[in-house]
Amino acid sequence: MANIGYLQVVRHCNHYCGFCSNPSTPFEHTLESMKRLVDDLCEREYFGVVLTGGEPTLHPELPAIARYAKARGLHVRMITNGHRLAQPAFASAMAEAGLDLVHVSIYSVRAEVEARLRGTPGTLRLALAAIENAHASGIEVNVNCVINRHNADHLDENVAFLTERHPYVRHYVWNNLDPSMGRAEVNQTEYLPSLRAFEASLHRALSLLHRTGRTFRVERVPLCYMTEFAWASTETRKIVKSEERVVHFLDEKQTVRQTEWEHQYAAACSVCSLRSICGGLFDRGGAYDPAELAPVFVSPEPIIRAIRGDRRDDGPSAKPAPLPEVGLVTEESLRKHARRREVEARRAADLGIAPEREGADTEEERIE
Ligand code: SF4
Repeated sequence: MANIGYLQVVRHCNHYCGFCSNPSTPFEHTLESMKRLVDDLCEREYFGVVLTGGEPTLHPELPAIARYAKARGLHVRMITNGHRLAQPAFASAMAEAGLDLVHVSIYSVRAEVEARLRGTPGTLRLALAAIENAHASGIEVNVNCVINRHNADHLDENVAFLTERHPYVRHYVWNNLDPSMGRAEVNQTEYLPSLRAFEASLHRALSLLHRTGRTFRVERVPLCYMTEFAWASTETRKIVKSEERVVHFLDEKQTVRQTEWEHQYAAACSVCSLRSICGGLFDRGGAYDPAELAPVFVSPEPIIRAIRGDRRDDGPSAKPAPLPEVGLVTEESLRKHARRREVEARRAADLGIAPEREGADTEEERIE
């Protein structure tokens, strides 16, 4: 099984997404403190590491930690908004450091929607340049998208645009909005989609990708909203393959080893044939309407067979290890964090949204 660890390199960002699940904290990393966490993943015999954030490219030692992880034998990945990868020299430097795969986040190919969602103008152009630069530097490129109220009706338009313009991108990841934490928690009215709102456009998007031989994963979408592509559900794959995940959170949660997935279900789920392999409304999906769930009556066996037969995720299995401490809080990092909070409060006011609750539970943007 392919166990992939997540290392939050920084928690600040140069964008200001109104539904960010990992807003800034006073915790910081040095190269040495990151190396210890890479060592931890190696000790567990993990297959790879995802360098994430915040926006990981804002850490000055990012190439150095990528190089170290690569030298230790990990498959090195990164999730980024693409802002810095839009500079060809930075993309080359990351490729030279050993970055194998980058997930560039794009929420909408409608420039004005993307800018609104990112709280920052001009972001689509930069993300598209990042895809080109990474590919030209030999880094495999995937595209990530958080499903929300503003893009729910045109997920297929995103895919049509991106497959036409960047045909070499072969894998796409959708994360349905997690409304339980960060800024998403306090801005649900603005960003939370209903499941029905994205059902049709997600189906068209997945159909296009499937038809053209591309692969994809979908997280936090109940199987009754993606029955035809149930094998692509992240939760279902975790259930079927019994995988674990270690996340080195750069906040109070510190290192978390996720082995048991607590999912929420509705009364309708009790008669559903996919109940045993479905994540339902996932573990923090309480803000979604359970009345939107509807049982399906198809056999889970072909789905299980498809997942077990797919070797794409395979790698060495995990070994347990003690949970290490993550990051440092210093007087200087507290001062920097206070300054960032002031700037972010102004950005929130400009966008007419609320800043996250300080110290609230947050979670990484997952990839598969
Ligand atoms: S009804 Fe419940 S168990 Fe069945 S697919 Fe929908 S969420 Fe999953």
